[in-house]
Amino acid sequence: MTRDYDLDSFKTRIDGIRYEDNPALVRQKSRDFYWYSPTLKRQLDAVTADIVVSPKSEAEVIQVLAAAFEFGIPVTPRGTGTGNYGQAMPLSGGVVLDLSGFSRVKSIAPGCVTCEPGAVIAQIDRETRPHSGQEIRLHPSTYNTASIGGFVAGGSGGIGSIKWGGLRDSGNILRLKVATMERSPRILELSGDDLHKVSHAYGTNGIITEVEMPLAPSYEWIDLIVGFDALASAAAYANEIGEADGLLVKEIAVVAAPVSHDYFLRHQRFLPRDKHLVLIMVAPHSLDPLIAVTRRRRGAEILFRQDQLAPADLKGLPPVYELSWNHTTLRALRVDPTITYLQVLYPFPNQLATVERIHNRFGDELPAHLEFVRFDGKVTCMGLPLVRFTTEERLEEIIAIHEEMGAPIFNPHRYTLEEGGMKQTDEIQLAFKREADPQGLLNPGKMVAWENPSYDYRSGKTYLFRGLAEQQLA
Ligand SMILES: Cc1cc2nc3c(=O)[nH]c(=O)nc-3n(C[C@H](O)[C@H](O)[C@H](O)COP(=O)(O)OP(=O)(O)OC[C@H]3O[C@@H](n4cnc5c(N)ncnc54)[C@H](O)[C@@H]3O)c2cc1C
Repeated sequence: MTRDYDLDSFKTRIDGIRYEDNPALVRQKSRDFYWYSPTLKRQLDAVTADIVVSPKSEAEVIQVLAAAFEFGIPVTPRGTGTGNYGQAMPLSGGVVLDLSGFSRVKSIAPGCVTCEPGAVIAQIDRETRPHSGQEIRLHPSTYNTASIGGFVAGGSGGIGSIKWGGLRDSGNILRLKVATMERSPRILELSGDDLHKVSHAYGTNGIITEVEMPLAPSYEWIDLIVGFDALASAAAYANEIGEADGLLVKEIAVVAAPVSHDYFLRHQRFLPRDKHLVLIMVAPHSLDPLIAVTRRRRGAEILFRQDQLAPADLKGLPPVYELSWNHTTLRALRVDPTITYLQVLYPFPNQLATVERIHNRFGDELPAHLEFVRFDGKVTCMGLPLVRFTTEERLEEIIAIHEEMGAPIFNPHRYTLEEGGMKQTDEIQLAFKREADPQGLLNPGKMVAWENPSYDYRSGKTYLFRGLAEQQLA
């Protein structure tokens, strides 16, 4: 691919700001966890930027954007690169804007925290907890590595979603500051419904320079693992715990046998191979009532109680949240690199019946992994089932069968916003892109509505961004 922009002049214009142009290091920072998907791995393996620039302040972000605009260089923002769909991968080359060093917690108040976009979520909690006994309401299982800006721009929910819902729910992001990609970049402040303009837009229509998030009281969450002989019993129990309004839990996941035993290697000694597991994080004051509910459940067996283990037994064990969400897939992939996954919604109120029908149909080709969440206020479950991958054609077939059976798929094997979501153009995000990125220089290739407004999703074909097609041919 020809990249005929004037990088040398660009470097002069960003004088004083850290950058890296060693091709091996640039390549490293041009990837995320796209390789979870065999399809994305095939499509995106060759993608790399020309330069990584690491601003540490809003003024430096503005300086980089103005220079890139002047020379027509694409800019792809990156937090810490833990996204799963190639969101932070620069399909047209150019600049990777590494925001990981722009990372201060700026202020903490009752119920909210304001930080720079590169702040790692666990680091935010390390400041809010001693300050006032508060923590971020919901976080991805990449708590220890993901940035808050990357979560807002590329994530959806996670630990805490059983109580608070997802990032898309009003009130789970409070305010954002966003830099536009123009000759003289502006800083816009967004709140209320305007937040939807840039949240989950993959950085295609503005660079987030400040984030205000809501906080909740913090707890020393306790990990509990409960085993069942049947997947349906595990799912019914998980649903009951999710609906029990008096219990304070932060995470409820179901993982089918034999996944946990085979892939959760550090916990293996606690997990019989034939047990379907429910993974729970519970607040200390809710532990006794939760144990009482569990004892009432026929067939429930408590396999792991963090509070009853000696420090020596706990040494080296990851927290339960690092067995859940996309960490379940990661642990499976580490043992069996042929595994991949899907993202499924089992709509309320038939979630348990839908789970049972689908998993009976697929058996061990699709080991179940459910994450219980509040979705539009109702307790239901999302699926992140593992897929014992054979071919891309079979994967497409599995997706089609889910949709026929009433379980919509958020396709994690697509790098565009529309194809990964519900195959609809987000008009709000598109309109904001016209205003904030008139030259289409921010994260090119990720918003089909911008690149090819007449694209027909019913064609059954995967959208191939022109810039990426050129790179593949090069
Ligand atoms: C093991 C594993 C587990 C995961 N678990 C979860 C989970 O539970 N829930 C969940 O939602 N996700 C999960 N993810 C996906 C990902 O970790 C999260 O969404 C995470 O919050 C992304 O943060 P990041 O800093 O790594 O973002 P990046 O991957 O660096 O970026 C994500 C997107 O945001 C854009 N972006 C980054 N910073 C900015 C900015 N300042 N302004 C504008 N755009 C920006 C990037 O261009 C990209 O499109 C998981 C991934 C892995 C590998």
